Order: sequence, then structure tokens, then C-alpha cells
Amino acid sequence: MKLDSMPITLTQCGKTFRGTRVLEPLDLSIGAGETLVLLGPSGCGKTTMLRLIAGLETPDAGGQVRFGDDDVTALPIERRKVGMVFQNYALFPNLNVRGNIGYGLKIARVSAAAARERVDELLAMMRLQAHADKPIGQLSGGQRQRVALARALAPRPRVLLLDEPLTALDARLRDTLRGEMNALLRELGVTTVYVTHDQAEAMELGERVVVMSAGRIEQIGTPREIYYRPASRVVAQFVGTLNRIAGQWRDGALVTTGGKLDTHTTRSPGPTELFFRPEDATLADPAHAPLRGVIEQSTFLGERTRLTVRGAAPDTLLVDVAGRIELARGTPVGIAIEPQALIALA
Ligand code: ATP
Repeated sequence: MKLDSMPITLTQCGKTFRGTRVLEPLDLSIGAGETLVLLGPSGCGKTTMLRLIAGLETPDAGGQVRFGDDDVTALPIERRKVGMVFQNYALFPNLNVRGNIGYGLKIARVSAAAARERVDELLAMMRLQAHADKPIGQLSGGQRQRVALARALAPRPRVLLLDEPLTALDARLRDTLRGEMNALLRELGVTTVYVTHDQAEAMELGERVVVMSAGRIEQIGTPREIYYRPASRVVAQFVGTLNRIAGQWRDGALVTTGGKLDTHTTRSPGPTELFFRPEDATLADPAHAPLRGVIEQSTFLGERTRLTVRGAAPDTLLVDVAGRIELARGTPVGIAIEPQALIALA
């Protein structure tokens, strides 16, 4: 199944509830067929932004929402042709699977024969054929999620809006469905806005990710840009784990208590602090490494071991090494970091 796609443009869209501004006026363009993920902590305004696009909320005065050339700002949800999936699925408990998927087609007065064909196509696409006549109450969480998605897609929406669709599922199922969702979105080609607070979901599904905090956009970028070139501490700390190192800046290097750490820039980053990700560090000979400390804790996580190292920087550092590596508490270690893996943040 392939759907039409169109760009979405938000211009100066803000939202105030009873005198409290929860979304600062913001501009955002979403490309035709793009999957854009809104990522951020609870309460940052992701759902509000999604509801503005859906037509479940109207922006404060001056804000505008466009689908392609259509100004939809004043249109209610039922006239925007959007497909929406919520965290709790909001399925109709009194209808069976077929009835749920076909619901929007009935409302749109699609003929019974055409509706049946469309529902059959979606049942096959979502691997729900064997469950077509079951009541919703007899389905697993993953199956309900697929029914909700099929119901949203049946009327061939011009925009797909997903609000934490996998959050209610257990971790293993979430991993599987994330992969399926990714394949599905690529196949559909529909412009999609996906809200989540889960960074793995954002990385896998987003062609671009919008990181939000306290009603503002902190950064917009590809998953790799967000992860490796975070624009601020807020972004860096929300996406992945970060270590802080400090020292004196001299000739393109950060001189720490243990030695010299070469960096990729000859300019001082301003503050004498740099950051790096646990998986970007390697263990090195403690006699020569720029950062030296002792193992405080070693946590086996299966595919990797996470080491907590004390004494190499003002705070303890986290270093990820291969799962097989075992180091006892108190072992002296050196830490090396490739220059390009160092992140300077204001
Ligand atoms: P979560 O992941 O918890 O859903 P979120 O990032 O989606 O968080 P929003 O649901 O957009 O955040 O909420 C942003 C802020 O707006 C919150 O402080 C919330 O309490 C407030 N808010 C949302 N809807 C309303 C409303 N109808 N009336 C008053 N305040 C609201």
C-alpha cells in the first residue's frame, strides 16, 4: 500500500492553556513523505504539537498549520484527513477487528465492496487475517497496536500521526514492532509525525528528530547529528549518556591531570570542559594515557561491560567495553578517546 504524501508547515504555532504557555511559537517544516520524530521528556509539549497538527487543538492567535498549500488551521480533525494512533489505541471495544479497521470507511461512506477490499488488504498487511472476527478484548497488546494502525490507514490519510504507539508494550515486543513500523512507514511513503520519549525509537524511525524541552525546540537534525553533534547540554544529556572531562586548554589539546588529550580543533572551546560518550572511549596503558583512574564498578550488561572509573576527571567516567572484559574494583586503567569523538558544548 502506498499513500500520497504532502509537506506539513507550522508557522508561529504556539499554545497557551488558561494563561500558561506550554508551547512557544515555533516554525517547523516537515517534508513530503518524511518521518519526523518529536522527542523529549514528559511534559515538554510533544503531544500538544501533534494535536495542533491533528486539529485536536488550535494554535494561539497568529499560528498557522498547512498541509501542502492547504491552510488547515481552522479545520477540525475530521476534515483534515489525518490518521492517528494513540498510546492506549482507543479501539472500539464493541466492534471486532474488521469493524474497527473499517470504521473510518463507513464514516467516509465508502461502498461496502470497496471497504471490504480495503479492510482485507490491511488485515493481510498487518498479519491479522486469523483475527479478523475476534473482539478486541481477545487480542494481545501487539495485535491491538496493529489494529489501531490499520484503522488509521484505512481511509488513506494524507498525514499519519502517532503518539507513543509502542509505549504500552513490553520491551521485547517494542523492539520487534519498532523494526516492523520502520519497514511499514518506508513502504507507505506517507508524511508521518511520531511522538516518543524513547531515544531508541527516535533513532531508528526518525529521518529527522526534533528534540524538545520545556515547550521549545532544542535541535532538529538527523539521528546521527543529534547524537554526535548535540546543539546543547540539554540535547546531549537527553540523548545517550555523556561524560564530562576538564583541564587546561593548550595548543589544541586539553591538558588534564593525567596528561594531554588531543582534540580535533585548534581553537579553545571556551570552557575547559569537553564531553564524550561511554562507547567512544577505549582502555589504554595507564602509564601513558591522558586520562587515568581506577575501576570503581564494573557492570556486566551482556553485549558490553560498563565500567565506572574514578579519579580521571572531576566526576566518575563511564566507559563501555566488550562484554567479555572483566576488571576488578581498584584496578588502575588509562582511557583514550579519539579526537573526533570529543564533544564541545557551551
Ligand atoms: P507526555 O510525554 O507526558 O505526554 P508531552 O511532551 O507530550 O508529555 P504535552 O502533553 O504536550 O507534553 O503537555 C505539555 C504541557 O501542557 C504539560 O505541562 C501539560 O500539563 C500541559 N497541558 C496539556 N494539555 C493541557 C490542557 N488541555 N489543559 C491544560 N494544560 C495542558
